[in-house]
Amino acid sequence: MTLDVLAVVSEIFPLIKTGGLADVAGALPGALAAEGVAVRSLIPGYPQVLHALESGVVVAYLDHLFGGEARIVAAKAAGLDLFVIDAPHLYARDGDPYRGPGGYDWGDNAFRFAALSRVAVMLAQGLVDGYRPDVLHGHDWQAGLMPAYLHYDGATTPPTVMTVHNLAFQGRYYAGLLSSLGLPNDAFQINGVEYYGDIGYLKAGLQFADRLTTVSPTYAAEICTPAGGMGMDGLLRSRADVLSGILNGIDTDVWDPTRDTTLAVSFDVDRLALRAANKRSVQTQLGLQADASRPLFAMISRLTWQKGIDLVLASLPRLLAGGGQLAVLGSGDLSYEAGLRAAAAANPQSVGVQFGYDERLAHLIQGGCDALLVPSRFEPCGLTQLCAMRYGALPIVAHVGGLCDTVIDASEMALASGLGTGFHFSPVQEEMLTAVIMRVLSVWRQPDLWRRLQRNAMMTDVGWRRPAAQYAALYHGLVGEVRQQ
Ligand code: ADP
Repeated sequence: MTLDVLAVVSEIFPLIKTGGLADVAGALPGALAAEGVAVRSLIPGYPQVLHALESGVVVAYLDHLFGGEARIVAAKAAGLDLFVIDAPHLYARDGDPYRGPGGYDWGDNAFRFAALSRVAVMLAQGLVDGYRPDVLHGHDWQAGLMPAYLHYDGATTPPTVMTVHNLAFQGRYYAGLLSSLGLPNDAFQINGVEYYGDIGYLKAGLQFADRLTTVSPTYAAEICTPAGGMGMDGLLRSRADVLSGILNGIDTDVWDPTRDTTLAVSFDVDRLALRAANKRSVQTQLGLQADASRPLFAMISRLTWQKGIDLVLASLPRLLAGGGQLAVLGSGDLSYEAGLRAAAAANPQSVGVQFGYDERLAHLIQGGCDALLVPSRFEPCGLTQLCAMRYGALPIVAHVGGLCDTVIDASEMALASGLGTGFHFSPVQEEMLTAVIMRVLSVWRQPDLWRRLQRNAMMTDVGWRRPAAQYAALYHGLVGEVRQQ
């Protein structure tokens, strides 16, 4: 039996992306189709989305959606089935989905994303003739009010799933907005949408959704602890019976080293020597000394506290003393950009940086670097380490969250058994990062061993097939429960 799922999400690759959330939202529908699940994604009509639509039919008009009119457009783009909220008063602006060109959050984000949840609920309740989803699946705080609206509407509704991609982003807004958001007064309580005196969008979703998931089993456990719960751990512990972790995958067609035209040379697990041309190309593009014998470490990341860029800068002297080079592609906090710029200026042959978002360069770096640094202080799943493994770059990861669950540490005993797909370090501190870099340099000096690990990494199944089967089982379980009631 085919299940219809409505995914409610604020970004989706390749239409609009600020992070891994978009990758997941873009890849999961295709993977779920193979499991007999038909996904429609509901997405705000930012200019980038409206321009990308290949076909579109207006299926509903709304006279009042938080201060203006809206049209709901059923559309296709990039192989995705979409409902798009075309509401110019909310979404027709330059900038990314959350911030204007000046880098500040839009002042009306509370309404922009309440609208996303409101329309999801209308669709669940029959807004569009012939469309009734079996399951509603909300992603992150932007969709957090959806289960709350369903709860306070009191109507019979499809079951709901909320997925947390990053608990750090919580969507907190002023309590005085309650009635303008269309929530009843009695919603403002600890068992409702109240969150430390504000309205909490993610909190609301975690409170009312039927099932909660996050993007790795280890992160699912971490967020139930005071250290990892970011204020939500009490609620999450009380809902631990419906919380589970399902790993993310990557799109193995987009990330396919055997036919990736963004690489200088494509390669496969049996022709790893070809990677040398990609390495040379990375070194040249970033102004580094083009020397095959120097281990090339890389980082592709948002430059934020979470991602541990400061730890990399602190470990840099030892990395360079060991003969290594560092290539960084990223964008984010200006203080980290300044630190990286200074490091590159001081070591022009050895440290190369490019700021901004560059999908093509990201592929080339993955196909050319020797090791990818992912020293995150916390990491719900992480995608870059999966791309690295697929491209034969060995990930060096902090032993947290999904990084624990996806990379097999090449410890002494793992190496003795021929195992390992990368390197772990813990706790997440400069000294331990430096120590793991020393360990990596020592393995690098043993080419047969290095090659063995590269092969292990490249043969790891990092695609969506297994995760999609787990989501499908979750949906079927939920729908089965509803039918039995
Ligand atoms: P997060 O979602 O926390 O930013 P993830 O590792 O889950 O981190 O996903 C980040 C995604 O964005 C990966 O696909 C990564 O390769 C990509 N990425 C991050 N920064 C850049 C950049 N500057 N240029 C190109 N791709 C980037």
